[in-house]
Amino acid sequence: MINGIGEVKKAVPDMIISASGPSYLRQYSDLLSAGAIEEGLCDHMLFGRMSFANPEFPKQIMETGRFDAKQVCVACGKCGDLIRAGKHTGCIVRDSATYLKYYREFQEENK
Ligand code: SF4
Repeated sequence: MINGIGEVKKAVPDMIISASGPSYLRQYSDLLSAGAIEEGLCDHMLFGRMSFANPEFPKQIMETGRFDAKQVCVACGKCGDLIRAGKHTGCIVRDSATYLKYYREFQEENK
């Protein structure tokens, strides 16, 4: 994905391009993002699921240079199940106290 968007950026360098999907790389997604921007493959990186898993991750990067590997999104896709079901969504793995009940509802409704 990042190489593909990099080809677009090289072809149209004046266009501001935001890449996405870094959460698949879990604890390495911050490094991928920094490298992609440094190499000119994109101008920004959009984090979706990582924001659910660890809303503090930008602050952690600004303060320490990395985010906490123990709080990363593990790319399980359960938050996406809730989005598509029209339910309250967030990280079922990292905030199960809040979101597991909605996932249980989803599972019951989809037996
Ligand atoms: S529910 Fe899974 S995919 Fe969604 S943010 Fe949490 S770990 Fe990532």
